[in-house]
Amino acid sequence: MPPAAAVVGRSIMKAFQHLATQDLHTRRVEEAYRVVVECVTAVDPAMRLYMFGSTAVYGVHEKGSDVDFVALSETDVEDGKGEDAATQVAKGLQAEFLGKLARVVRQKHFSWNVEEVRRTRVPVIRVKGGSGVDFDITVNRRNGVRNSALLRAYFEQDPPCRWLSMGVKRWSKRVGLNASVVGGSITSYGFNLMVVYYLLQRGALQFIPPTAIDVAKVAPVPPYLPLEPPQNDGVELGERVLDFLQFYMNEFDAARHVISLSRPGITTKEQLNWTKDAEDRARMNGEKINYQWCIEDPYELNLNVGRNVTPLKRDFLRKHMDKARETALLTST
Ligand code: ATP
Ligand code: MG
Ligand code: MG
Repeated sequence: MPPAAAVVGRSIMKAFQHLATQDLHTRRVEEAYRVVVECVTAVDPAMRLYMFGSTAVYGVHEKGSDVDFVALSETDVEDGKGEDAATQVAKGLQAEFLGKLARVVRQKHFSWNVEEVRRTRVPVIRVKGGSGVDFDITVNRRNGVRNSALLRAYFEQDPPCRWLSMGVKRWSKRVGLNASVVGGSITSYGFNLMVVYYLLQRGALQFIPPTAIDVAKVAPVPPYLPLEPPQNDGVELGERVLDFLQFYMNEFDAARHVISLSRPGITTKEQLNWTKDAEDRARMNGEKINYQWCIEDPYELNLNVGRNVTPLKRDFLRKHMDKARETALLTST
């Protein structure tokens, strides 16, 4: 028998107790923003800098979370609903800009660790700053800004849902399911898409068409969205967490269905041609694409955010979800 919802909720609240005394205001990362703007401007004064990722999604900055930045041209911003180019040429130009930017960052902040990552789907530089804030910088790609704004628009419909998301994220990192830890396979972004899809299926949120999100209308530095403690001593949070686990363990049909925010209702693998056959053929940067646990990216064409979930990892996911019911997302033991 899993513990009662009230017990689960209280346990999760306790695990986040430290947030009560922390300054979660997004102004805490504005300093990092200014520093990166200065470097970007040195490479090209016409570029604009946008912050996305968890700071944008939640409207708060958790200590220890990295900050995601993207430098966009004026045209990128004006054409804020445009598709991102995915050609090798576009990738080459991005890598070139980032190479220049990396040099400037190293010059201005010689003690920082700056790594140029070229082999990923999207060229990025990873900066480990001295002041405890780490960040990723990409260029000319709107999709991160758009998907973060989409997730945020959903959480704005029901701000307490951020607790479910934060609980799931924390758990995914601690049990090793999160792609940010060795052996993990689903990114925080993927878990957020899972959370929102679940809430949509339950009718707890109203569908938002991804095409509605326009970068031209998004603030470069995400506004603060205060995080109130869960209501009712965490009873509703506990119910939500248990129901989320119940949904993905017993209701979601992983063999046939796709977790998707692209359209309301159900999306099938068949519909996207994410079949066994396609799985046998598909490769990305030489790596196999799995269609075992399918999460459709709302903006990237034909991209499974769960592409690294192998059959073995899918079994891990199920086992950890089963355990998570007993342990209140690994907060009670
Ligand atoms: P964290 O606090 O763990 O950093 P986060 O909310 O910033 O969480 P990330 O997983 O770091 O989330 O994702 C940041 C951005 O990276 C997303 O907005 C998305 O654009 C991109 N991204 C992450 N994972 C994937 C993926 N599997 N496929 C495509 N894009 C991804
Ligand atoms: Mg991030
Ligand atoms: Mg990041």
